[in-house]
Amino acid sequence: MNNLAPRVSVVIPVYNEEAGLKALFDRLYPALDRLGIAYEVIFVNDGSRDRSAAILKDQYLRRPDVTRVILFNANYGQHLAIVAGFEHCRGERIVTLDADLQNPPEEIEKLLAAMDAGHDYVGGIRSARKDVWWRNLASRAMNHLRERITRIKMTDQGCMLRAYGRDIVRAIVASREVSTYIPALACTFAYSPTEIEVAHAERAAGESKYSLYKLIRLNFDLITGFSLVPLQLFSMFGMIVSATALVTYLIVIVDRLIIAGWREGFATLWDRDILAFFLIGMLVFGLGLIGEYVGRIYQQVRDRPRFMIQAVLEGSEIVTPQSVSAAQLTEMTVDAKLGL
Ligand code: UDP
Ligand code: MG
Repeated sequence: MNNLAPRVSVVIPVYNEEAGLKALFDRLYPALDRLGIAYEVIFVNDGSRDRSAAILKDQYLRRPDVTRVILFNANYGQHLAIVAGFEHCRGERIVTLDADLQNPPEEIEKLLAAMDAGHDYVGGIRSARKDVWWRNLASRAMNHLRERITRIKMTDQGCMLRAYGRDIVRAIVASREVSTYIPALACTFAYSPTEIEVAHAERAAGESKYSLYKLIRLNFDLITGFSLVPLQLFSMFGMIVSATALVTYLIVIVDRLIIAGWREGFATLWDRDILAFFLIGMLVFGLGLIGEYVGRIYQQVRDRPRFMIQAVLEGSEIVTPQSVSAAQLTEMTVDAKLGL
């Protein structure tokens, strides 16, 4: 590892990406070498159950000067994997990238050029997004919703090809958030953010690691982490319903007492099952919504470690609870340490 701090750290979360990692290395390293500046690549293995960890270790042994690997003991999610990378990176500028080659590594140069122009945060906008139609549709809707109920300004919140200045990364690490959305958090710290168009490609190999369920969870993290509007809307809704109920009740009383027989149907409107079900549904939804916030508060106040790092491969050392020194470092000891 160079003694000088690298100019750029590239942080890449990896979860079950064995099929595509080789293609990633083949494009990433040449693209970074071409920049002609000191760099480091930090892969964070997010508890992959396939051979990703072993492949990353091989790559580390091939390019130990510029490669570092953080190995989680379990799957904690893409955003916490990036946080771990941020905690360990040493570059002045930090670029995040997906491991599946959907973000072309050749575009890193463009992000850095925007930073040269004085910006401390550069977001990517995928010019022609290559994902399945329902994902495109859903993220457009979420983007729109986020734009309206948070103060976060981002054209393409789903794009992870982004560059961050060191101060922003330091602030993200210091935030110690349990469930977070890195690009949005970075927005809150940036003083001169900008966005540029970047290319987007289809997944090089393997499948998306986001099921519909995981996507919904992620979007809850985004909304609850940056807005109280859902809770406020819900209480507004409660107020409107109870005010309407009160007015209706008064009308019913007047109806019964004075104009008996007047539009009978109206009085029974509130008895209709369908309306009751709707209100019960809203109530349960509201409870769930409060639960989303309370659950996050609970996680946060427990203050447990957000992730467990099994080992870090860096320099010529493997840092584990019982570290192996450079002299002992052989492929066999690495494998034994990591249980590969
Ligand atoms: N990823 C991760 N942990 C997870 C899910 C995903 O580290 O629990 C990584 C994954 O390996 C990839 C990036 O996050 O590098 C984006 O995931 P993916 O490409 O599956 O998401 P999509 O492009 O479908 O939104
Ligand atoms: Mg992808």
